[in-house]
Amino acid sequence: EYREIATPSRTKEILAKHGFTFKKSLGQNFLTDPNILRKIVEAAEIDTHTNAVEVGPGIGALTEHLAQNAHQVLAFEIDDRLIPVLADTLSPYDNVTVIHQDILKVDVATVFKEQFKEELPIKVVANLPYYITTPIMMHFLESKANVAEMVVMMQKEVADRISAKPGTKAYGSLSIAVQYHMHAEVAFIVPKTVFVPQPNVDSAILKLTRRETPAVEVTDEKAFFKLTKAGFLQRRKTLWNNLQSYYGKDEATKAWLQKSLDEAQIDPSRRGETLSLEEFARLSNTMEALK
Ligand code: SAM
Repeated sequence: EYREIATPSRTKEILAKHGFTFKKSLGQNFLTDPNILRKIVEAAEIDTHTNAVEVGPGIGALTEHLAQNAHQVLAFEIDDRLIPVLADTLSPYDNVTVIHQDILKVDVATVFKEQFKEELPIKVVANLPYYITTPIMMHFLESKANVAEMVVMMQKEVADRISAKPGTKAYGSLSIAVQYHMHAEVAFIVPKTVFVPQPNVDSAILKLTRRETPAVEVTDEKAFFKLTKAGFLQRRKTLWNNLQSYYGKDEATKAWLQKSLDEAQIDPSRRGETLSLEEFARLSNTMEALK
């Protein structure tokens, strides 16, 4: 008889059968709520015309739902102890491939090309290991792999920062780095109680959808992202102070910064957190032009 992996009782059985103990250092908090899993797959709109990618399948709770809905599933798991467990729990599904690797060391664009049999939209769906949420997000965004969508569980606080709007406390260079490529929204909040073991923080499902073109037009992406970092160097300081601290306080640099701010019509006494993506882009393009 069929009993899904994510029920608390089956999870307990699987863990006992394989003598598995959690490693906190790998961010192992497993989902044991079939309803939440259904909601995640629904939010990601996974169907047979989708290739799904999962980071950290654990014992396969979410993987199973992806396998039942997607065309093909590729799951990357770092913990060697989980490989035989997954071979066992996912044996009913012939459209899942588990790759035993640290996701941050994978050239995802190449592996997707090798592994996916059909060229379909790729969606990343995962309950992320929280100790490396941001590096994993950036790894996918900066790769050549054309990820259409990411529906990922993370600390609520990080989800808020990524989806933050200008002028809010949570808004920063991370919001800009992600929103440049993707449209970001919090899909729903997840209580601690649905995990074993329970994490210390609240979680949220963040939904990122790729923009057809980047949110703003910049002449030099590297320079733009540098500027957004500079703008938030010290949140309480003005743009003028932060830019000088970052680019240099010598007369030539100060003159360049002054002229750029002036031409881009950005008030130097503003704080970075008040600048929109458009304003950061305009300032960056002006700085590059005046260099
Ligand atoms: N997907 C499962 C679930 O929802 O029940 C497990 C999620 S758990 C929060 C995170 C998973 O990511 C663990 O299985 C952990 O071993 C794995 N993991 C941690 N670091 C990883 C890395 N660098 N690359 C791939 N997997 C990783």
